[in-house]
Amino acid sequence: MYISVFDIFSVGVGPSSSHTVGPMMAARRYLLKLKEKCSFDKVAKVDVFLYGSLGLTGEGHGTIRAVVLGLMGVTAENMDINEPYIMAVERDKKISLLSEHVIDFNIEENVILVKETFLKEHANGMILKSYNEKGEVLFEDSYFSIGGGFVLSKEEFYNSKIIDNIDKKIPYSFKSAEELLEIVDENNMSIAELVLQNELAISNDIDEIYDRLDYVKSILDESIDEGIKKEGILPGGLDIERRAPVIYKEIKRRFEDNYNDPLLIVDWVNLWSFAVAEENAAGGRVVTAPTNGSAGVIPSVIRYFEKYAVKSNMMDIEKAIRDFILTASAIANLYKNNASIAGAEVGCQGEIGVACSMAAGGLVAAMGGSPFQIENAAEIAMEHNLGLTCDPIKGLVQIPCIERNAFGSLKAINAARIALKSDGKHFVSLDKVIKTMYQTGKDMKSTYKETSLGGLAVNVVDC
Ligand code: SF4
Repeated sequence: MYISVFDIFSVGVGPSSSHTVGPMMAARRYLLKLKEKCSFDKVAKVDVFLYGSLGLTGEGHGTIRAVVLGLMGVTAENMDINEPYIMAVERDKKISLLSEHVIDFNIEENVILVKETFLKEHANGMILKSYNEKGEVLFEDSYFSIGGGFVLSKEEFYNSKIIDNIDKKIPYSFKSAEELLEIVDENNMSIAELVLQNELAISNDIDEIYDRLDYVKSILDESIDEGIKKEGILPGGLDIERRAPVIYKEIKRRFEDNYNDPLLIVDWVNLWSFAVAEENAAGGRVVTAPTNGSAGVIPSVIRYFEKYAVKSNMMDIEKAIRDFILTASAIANLYKNNASIAGAEVGCQGEIGVACSMAAGGLVAAMGGSPFQIENAAEIAMEHNLGLTCDPIKGLVQIPCIERNAFGSLKAINAARIALKSDGKHFVSLDKVIKTMYQTGKDMKSTYKETSLGGLAVNVVDC
């Protein structure tokens, strides 16, 4: 199934796409559906049951807060990140469903963490139930947060035809990297042009597409700039201090001292990645690309491109950045359709690994590389993330996640540089590495897949 660039690069609220963005969206969707089925006035109580990984790490990943926001009708785009929405619900023990209908709501009682049960459909499952005054169930529905902020209702999960319509509209559908390369070769077009043609078939307005791409870029920039400015301790109880402002001051000091460091670029890339990852960990607004946990990789690699990799004869930097985003979305489509971008399904390979692969391919596109070099860069980037586990301490998207964004960014840059020095021919194809990543993820024990039951999460003493 083709996934639009705007679904891949969606705006989300931290700290986790599968545990925050998805459940927030699901809670809102549930109420919109409920409203269609029965009168909102009849609703006296709503319960939200969070299963499996959502139950186990939901607290640290901000799922409870996200669900409450979703029930209030808040979206990532319209949310005021300074508004204390949750405090009011905690204080009054009341919630205004979709900001329309007020009912009693005790977060501790009405959001239920079912840690020991995994729903059979997916590791990130939730069931929502609403009741009337007599306690009779009015409407019950299940949702699955399948990674990257994508949500499927139970109906959609079992009936893919419901969400398949988009494929009928687009001119260039592709299931594999091999097919993608064949299509662009036959039509003498770039991967970015192919994605643009597909998007045009969906929205039919090129200016609107460019505006939306530029909006995505503006949020990527905002997340870096906000993260550099903000100081203090990250929420969640690990007492982790934000490091981006400290790194920024240190880089500035070196400039002032005329300190000659050939690896200063590495410090900049670390800074930009940390800034976004810390902004995400604090519940700020980021672009979910492909997930919130890995949201620092793409913006920092784009910033690297703008500052250090634009050729002196390049006429249109704006176009190059749009090409970066469009190309990265084609790569994300391959992972989404043939493997997974959910840490709960395939470990961190699906988050930092996929972000790294997308960024490597996007950077090659922006730098004018061929489709074969793009495929090569995306393959190299994933090859060296194979086996990466997900074991966040205390379920927070902080350790190892923040530093891992910096490593993902630097690996992406290196993969692009290696690919750009080749003719695009290589031994392992992107399709093979995607297949390997998925198999590795399936073989990985669940303790290493966003449950915080293994790895660093159990070996680092929480004091
Ligand atoms: S370890 Fe990786 S997959 Fe797991 S929460 Fe952190 S960034 Fe996401």
